[in-house]
Amino acid sequence: MDYYNETIETLQRDDLDTLVENSIHYTVKYAYEHSPFYRKWFDKHGVSPSDVKSHDDLRELPLISGSVIRENQPPKTHNFDFKSISWKDVYTIHETSGTSGVPKSFFLTWDDWLRYAEKYARAFVSQNFGAGDRVVICASYGMNVGANTMTLGAHKIGMSIIPEGKCTFPVRIIQNYKPTGIVGSVFKLLRLAKRMKSEGMDPKKSSIKQLIAGGESFSEESRNYLEEVWDVPVYNTYGSTEGTMCGECRVKAGLHVPEDLVHLDVYNPTLEDFVKDGECGRIVLTTLLPEGGKTGNLLINYDTDDTTVVVSRDKCSCGRTHMRIMNPQREAETVYVGGFPFNKVDVEQGVFQRENMEYLTGEYEAFIYGDSEEATLRVSMECENSPEFERDIVENNFIKSFLKFKPGLQQAHADGTFNIIFNFTEPEGLEFYRIKGRPKRLVDRR
Ligand SMILES: [Zn+2]
Repeated sequence: MDYYNETIETLQRDDLDTLVENSIHYTVKYAYEHSPFYRKWFDKHGVSPSDVKSHDDLRELPLISGSVIRENQPPKTHNFDFKSISWKDVYTIHETSGTSGVPKSFFLTWDDWLRYAEKYARAFVSQNFGAGDRVVICASYGMNVGANTMTLGAHKIGMSIIPEGKCTFPVRIIQNYKPTGIVGSVFKLLRLAKRMKSEGMDPKKSSIKQLIAGGESFSEESRNYLEEVWDVPVYNTYGSTEGTMCGECRVKAGLHVPEDLVHLDVYNPTLEDFVKDGECGRIVLTTLLPEGGKTGNLLINYDTDDTTVVVSRDKCSCGRTHMRIMNPQREAETVYVGGFPFNKVDVEQGVFQRENMEYLTGEYEAFIYGDSEEATLRVSMECENSPEFERDIVENNFIKSFLKFKPGLQQAHADGTFNIIFNFTEPEGLEFYRIKGRPKRLVDRR
């Protein structure tokens, strides 16, 4: 199977743009008629849904950050003001935890499930999965929608799912059921490979044909290393409860955005206007409904707090015409030193330089100390065995790659206002091993 939904996935650009414009009209009208939040907003600002004539007019509507959602749900308000369907049509209720820890509520209808599943089905097919494949899903089956709707997506293409929900499943699962794929995060898939090796199983010779990495941003270097460890292609996926679900196809030239189902704009840092394709900016999402469709939770201009670059809106060599974006990065994982930004992914890239991996496991954490005058980045890396080796090699590789495209930081490093120091630990010696929850890889302690 080449496509899950060939007509839509290969629609010519003009036709695709027209389809998107029509869906924006319908979606905005639906918002006014069904979402208490949007009805209030339109009435208060004297705007009519019919004033939103094109995609460009979306800039006139408010940007919705996570905090706006929290301000419009209990306990702040009596009702869930973003809920856009009556209770009897709500199929499932979800919560997404933000950085602040207060969960945002999210309501899905059965139609929403089908659309989410379709997005995953399209991505799976674009990654060479199909009938007869068996995939272990390590994403969590809790209040997030990802793992659940992925499972439904698999059904649409005749694929079997092993719903582990975690990457710590016993190696016997691989031995007994011979899965052909695993969905997990880069680090968890690296740890799984290690566990297999320690139990005498070579990941390179296992039944796995390809891996899907998601759940967090990662560097090209860590992906390359994961591909080497498993000797299979690793495809990227970017999904969220808000309904993103973008997947990298087998060409690996950016993640395809299912443009007919979710509208993705890239905004400048002041969030006032779109940036040009090829420029980095903030991802702002709008749910798109097909004519006549219904949804449980409608977000127009949802500010994801993630950044990306539109790679291309031209036809991909896989045949799909839907736009492609670069691997998104989390704005919350970006820090500034002397006015110059860098992201967790930049640190990760420095760690995963190929030569370093002769000594390291890839696990790392970085902290920034100092004040407005002088800052120090302290990078801790876990060693494969005891940290007895030529550290200069790893340190030089890190510094060279980390400062490569950052002239501002390079200057600061040269004049001594930005220091980079290293710490090498024994296995399990990093701080995050002693803290519950997802590891924080880059922490600003200034
Ligand atoms: Zn493609």
